[in-house]
Amino acid sequence: MLVMKFGGSSVADRTQIEKVQEIVRGRLPRAPVVVCSAHKGITNMLIAAGKAAAAGQQDAEREVIERQQAIARGCGCPDGLLAPFFQELTDLLRGVRLVRELSPRSLDYISSFGERMSVRVIAHFFEQNGLAARPFDVWDLGFITDNRFGAARPLPGYEGRMAEAFARLVPPGVTPIVTGFVGKTEAGEVTTVGRNGSDLTATLVAAALGAQEAEIWSDTDGVMSADPHLVPGARNIPSMSFDEAAELAYFGSRVLHPETLIPAMRKDIPVRVLNTNRPEHPGTVITREPGRRERTVTSIAYKESQSILTVRSEHMFAHSGFLARLFEATTRRGLVVDMVTTSEVSVSISASDTDLLRAVASDIEHLGSCRIDTRKTILAVVGHHLPTQAGAAAHITSAVADAGVNIEMLSYSSGSINVSMVIDDRDVDIAVRTLHTKLFGS
Ligand code: ASP
Ligand code: MG
Repeated sequence: MLVMKFGGSSVADRTQIEKVQEIVRGRLPRAPVVVCSAHKGITNMLIAAGKAAAAGQQDAEREVIERQQAIARGCGCPDGLLAPFFQELTDLLRGVRLVRELSPRSLDYISSFGERMSVRVIAHFFEQNGLAARPFDVWDLGFITDNRFGAARPLPGYEGRMAEAFARLVPPGVTPIVTGFVGKTEAGEVTTVGRNGSDLTATLVAAALGAQEAEIWSDTDGVMSADPHLVPGARNIPSMSFDEAAELAYFGSRVLHPETLIPAMRKDIPVRVLNTNRPEHPGTVITREPGRRERTVTSIAYKESQSILTVRSEHMFAHSGFLARLFEATTRRGLVVDMVTTSEVSVSISASDTDLLRAVASDIEHLGSCRIDTRKTILAVVGHHLPTQAGAAAHITSAVADAGVNIEMLSYSSGSINVSMVIDDRDVDIAVRTLHTKLFGS
């Protein structure tokens, strides 16, 4: 059994969905389970509609319904197919407008319509074109989550429930087309796993069903050595380890949702990243042991718009428990810290959430002087051989120096496959391009 996930651009319109159908057809002997995102742009439009309704706008749903309707008609679907969803969405947004309030719970409910509608359009199109398929809301297949709206995760034991539901509900010979991104609590409230989360749904489903492989189909030739929009000479990476892919995803490589690799790692399921527009390209295969590779560095990733808090105190290390108190404050505020560097007199931490970082700073003023710097980028260079290659870190930092870019924080711990540094947002382009030329050739 094979899980195949198609992202928003892969199912953007009829032309794309035709490509998807051919790809799925070619894999029918492997009994594919297809997980889909909403059509490209629909989730953004749904969220915008929710916000507009909360601000009092009438007919906030019009634009998104028109776009969805056009895609469905383009795929030959009768208007009746999505009519119940359009009605439900209209009612829901009316409610939001009346109460002028958009809770995380309502926002998840609104966002869920994209996937719920896309799977119906895709399954209908497949059926019309001779490929037996049936749409499913993933919650009907046992994907029951906690109630952390916007970041929900399946409840322990979901795997057994899913295996049982698939066996019971999916007829043999029929390809299930399953919603990514969404879920439901035990009480029946709609949740989502978070933006761009369909990748994660796919590997969670693959783990539950004991799939032989999970394929993530998008619009690049697998994972690249750097963002191809920034570095035109970026090249495909044929294979990498779960660890490398997880670091890259976490530090901003846009190809995979950061948590995608965790369920796959746990069950040792290879993940293949492929291009819907070039299905013959082998893409990238991500496994536990990716075999021997020559290059020290696998890929460069970056995460922009980060903020840094620096706490400075003369007697920082004379007073024991300084770091404990700092991290007590970040924990209390629920702040996710990405990078930490320390010296005799100061500690710096980086995070994405500037507001929470400011709140932490005000909590710990008594510990020392606090400074916040915004508009910073974490630049991460990831590679399997980094920990054992003499001079690797020097090579990387000197490339950044050659670009005339100042490194403000640097983190490279023992055994780590990731050298990460903080630079200014303004320097990203030049730093990444220079690094790429130095590490991969031009
Ligand atoms: N449709 C959702 C989003 O745009 C989930 C996904 O595309 O993976 O965030
Ligand atoms: Mg997506």
